[in-house]
Amino acid sequence: MDAGGAAPLRRREMAAAVSGAGRCRLSKVGAGRRPPPARVRVAVRLRPFVDGTAGADDPPCVRGLDSCSLEIANWRNHQETLKYQFDAFYGERSSQQDIYAGSVQPILRHLLEGQNASVLAYGPTGAGKTHTMLGSPEQPGVIPRALMDLLQLTREEGGEGRPWALSVTMSYLEIYQEKVLDLLEPTSGDLVIREDCRGNILIPGLMQKPITSFADFERHFLPASRNRTVGATRLNQRSSRSHAVLLVKVDQRERLAPFRQREGKLYLIDLAGSEDNRRTGNKGLRLKESGAINSSLFVLGKVVDALNQGLPRVPYRDSKLTRLLQDSLGGSAHSILIANIAPERHFYLDTVSALNFAARSKEVINRPFTNERQIWTTGARGPEEEEIGSPEPPAAPASASQKLSPLQKLSSMDPAVLERLLSLDRLLGSQGSQGTHGLNTPRRERMVLMKTMEEKDLEIKRLKMKQKELEAKVLAQEALDPKDKENSSPAILRPLARRTVTVAKPLKKAVVMPLQLSNKLCFCHSPPPPEEKAEDCWELQISPELLAHGRQKILDLLNEGSARDLRSLQRIGQKKAQLIVGWRELHGPFSQVEDLEHVEGISGKQMESFLKANILGLAACQRSGPS
Ligand code: ADP
Ligand code: MG
Repeated sequence: MDAGGAAPLRRREMAAAVSGAGRCRLSKVGAGRRPPPARVRVAVRLRPFVDGTAGADDPPCVRGLDSCSLEIANWRNHQETLKYQFDAFYGERSSQQDIYAGSVQPILRHLLEGQNASVLAYGPTGAGKTHTMLGSPEQPGVIPRALMDLLQLTREEGGEGRPWALSVTMSYLEIYQEKVLDLLEPTSGDLVIREDCRGNILIPGLMQKPITSFADFERHFLPASRNRTVGATRLNQRSSRSHAVLLVKVDQRERLAPFRQREGKLYLIDLAGSEDNRRTGNKGLRLKESGAINSSLFVLGKVVDALNQGLPRVPYRDSKLTRLLQDSLGGSAHSILIANIAPERHFYLDTVSALNFAARSKEVINRPFTNERQIWTTGARGPEEEEIGSPEPPAAPASASQKLSPLQKLSSMDPAVLERLLSLDRLLGSQGSQGTHGLNTPRRERMVLMKTMEEKDLEIKRLKMKQKELEAKVLAQEALDPKDKENSSPAILRPLARRTVTVAKPLKKAVVMPLQLSNKLCFCHSPPPPEEKAEDCWELQISPELLAHGRQKILDLLNEGSARDLRSLQRIGQKKAQLIVGWRELHGPFSQVEDLEHVEGISGKQMESFLKANILGLAACQRSGPS
């Protein structure tokens, strides 16, 4: 049974489900909630016999059974056929509109939810990929139809008075012999494919043209396609040997608080022919091209297999094509693969191999999610600055209401706090309505949290000011009464600041500073100059003689002590004691305590803290009593 009769009914039903009067209504239902996993949808399109092609008079070797299945002759056993089932099967009589409405239009709505979508045309050269994707002026294919609808929808959804402002941009590239070439800017050469921290695939430097109407789209797309066609004439069918990728981005910005942003990407891909080039007798450049095509399509097959088997490593990076499709296969996109096949007998092996690839692909599970961001900062740094790698970012509609954002006050917020808030936001977003009860009101929670943060911020500022005041007071007192300073013990002078400041940060500052100063004075070999002496209270209580004595005692211990003796020193455990003994055996005695730094396993920092802990301690002991 041919699929042409039954299929339109089902397809029309599918289309009606999303389209209302022939046009799909985009809804934002599900945005913010974690969407369910979406299997890669696979449709097969069998083209009719084409006049003038070889074998046009032979009977077909493949035929449809119903709107989802088909059968093909079994070359091993002529009595049998091989049967395949897919999400949709489009027979010879299917129209361009059937394919578009049945398999492509339903996924477009996800773009307005900030999710990605992709359509891939797969199959051997001559099976109808370009016809399906591009078509002709009389029979426009998926690309013009999708663009027409998408632009119309963005105009409707983003019109004045609607909550979101929408903008659309397009990029067009081809992957030819593992080179990424910009068809809108052919001079840019081979471009690199990158992944951002959120797992989005980007091509820095790729031209992005803003489009607001179908005329805009044609203005950029037609010359770019001609670029490709010129190449094709020169290079003999280059176009069927490269993967053509049209990327359409739908950018959404919320007009009122909380000023969310969403980005949905649509990839429309006309893949290079999947025919087995070994059978075509290619040589020279053709052979090189075949190698590149075969390797990227071969890797595509491996990616599909790895995803199906749940392997931990999916070889996306093994080819440019799969790297680019990382979003679309097993990634974040709603994907549809249209496998194009031809009825002629000489296509038989390529048809079987395309059907097998398609059958494997339908097992791949994608996990689409909403690419949504919240704009926390407003003002000088525009939202477009957050975009990565887009040389021509779409013009951001500067909404007047943005200036009234209640979040504006937080623009000076500590980045660490901001980061925590953003992760909370992400957590809330991912949990959606199924989250913990307390998290069901994320916005209110967020506001409370932000208020607390603001208060904390103010408190820290207030304490910092207080600390500064106290320090200034101490310094002023020192300047006014230097004599008193000399006579007073540090326990009276410094601890004033230390005792008064009770919050962790300022306290640390008040205590650490004098110690650092005394380090400088204590650890120098020559006695410190008198003016420095007068500045520091710690230095006053430890005489250079005592320090030298302490230093000598430690040096003796380092040179003569056993590992056990060494452990009596501060900061020296069993391991370090053994290291010291080992070093001594190899290099002889230490000439000064600082030589400890040369012992492997003891860093300069550790040596300093060792000196601080031991020399000051010993010297202090000696000051308070006989050794
Ligand atoms: P591919 O891109 O896979 O190499 P094409 O799209 O160029 O194949 O198709 C090869 C030929 O078959 C073209 O002349 C095209 O017009 C024709 N063709 C393909 N599919 C159809 C179809 N469904 N109906 C009519 N003609 C078709
Ligand atoms: Mg083609």
